Amino acid sequence: MDIDNCTSWLEIDLRAIRNNIQQLLQISKTNVMAVVKANGYGHGMEQVARAAVQAGATWCGLARLEEAIQLHQSDVNCNLLVMGHTRPSFIQEAIARQIHVAVFDEQSAQAYAAQAQAMGIPLHIHVKIDSGMGRLGIFPEEGVPFIRWLHTLTGLEIDGVFTHFARADEPSLPTTDQQLDRFCKVVQTLEQSGLRPKWVHAANSAATIYYPRARFDLIRAGVATYGLHPSKDAMLPDTFRPAMTWKTRLTSVKHLPAGHGVSYTHRYITSKRELIGATAIGYADGFRRRLGNFALVHGKRVPVVGTVCMDQCMLQLDSVPEAKVGDEVVLIGQQGDDRITIEEVAEAWGTINYDVGTGQAARVPRFYIE
Ligand SMILES: *Cc1c(COP(=O)(O)O)cnc(C)c1O
Repeated sequence: MDIDNCTSWLEIDLRAIRNNIQQLLQISKTNVMAVVKANGYGHGMEQVARAAVQAGATWCGLARLEEAIQLHQSDVNCNLLVMGHTRPSFIQEAIARQIHVAVFDEQSAQAYAAQAQAMGIPLHIHVKIDSGMGRLGIFPEEGVPFIRWLHTLTGLEIDGVFTHFARADEPSLPTTDQQLDRFCKVVQTLEQSGLRPKWVHAANSAATIYYPRARFDLIRAGVATYGLHPSKDAMLPDTFRPAMTWKTRLTSVKHLPAGHGVSYTHRYITSKRELIGATAIGYADGFRRRLGNFALVHGKRVPVVGTVCMDQCMLQLDSVPEAKVGDEVVLIGQQGDDRITIEEVAEAWGTINYDVGTGQAARVPRFYIE
């Protein structure tokens, strides 16, 4: 598929990904895991992982073993960690490929160890501590006894211990420091007992920037890899660059007379003779079915009018009379002097930038700028 033939597509700037990984290396002064779960936050898992490793990332983080297997089958060469739960019936795939997995319950650990023993290959594990997220993990008080017990099993290599923050993107709150204190206690006791694993890690993107003591041996950066801000209260330094541009084209441009309805249910009626454009972007592409959307045409911001359809939506083009069929329309990214950020779109949709990036449909092709 050629961009010239596309009516709707994403352009992913891998130079921005490489820049962002270099920024993370410089800031953290430790090892960097590029978190590329969920198809690289919608940017493309393999392409992002390859660029991240080129720039110096030594790990990639995934949510599920299926994702890690796909990445392992590519030419990307780095350590892989599955941060979610892996079904024991699937674990031989991780063992055979030396994919690291998270461990946080006895029953799974026992089943993993049995499979590793049967295969005669050790499984690399990272023990997850729940220091306050209330999601996956062993409570801090039980962390050290659990790790001692894991050492009695044959077949497991305890390579890491980690935790995850619930509110690192709200640096004015005490929550992250409290979580860090609980996690540090576990790490200290492990150190004193000679049980400290090689890889201690805790920081997501926000914590990497706002909590230097959370950096340990490795940081796990998702949203910052893509140049997206963790939150309004935890902005990235302006040396980071967003990597995603979302484009479509005008597929029709025509004047509608005054009083003419636009799109399903006629939620928009022209108030005078108006120039209305159609574009090939709809809710089935991940462009949400809400009023109040906007786009750039010839560098000018124009409103989406009427209901967003499955494959199309309409633009009010009175401010760009030169618009014609085939012209590029930008939904996210720069055009001329204006830029629509993912954060702005998230605000309009009542959600967060993470949700916008991961929300684009599989049918939208991705093109990569090396
Ligand atoms: C998704 C995820 C991350 C990355 O978080 P960002 O806020 O995108 O940096 C890190 N660690 C875990 C366990 C995750 O699930």
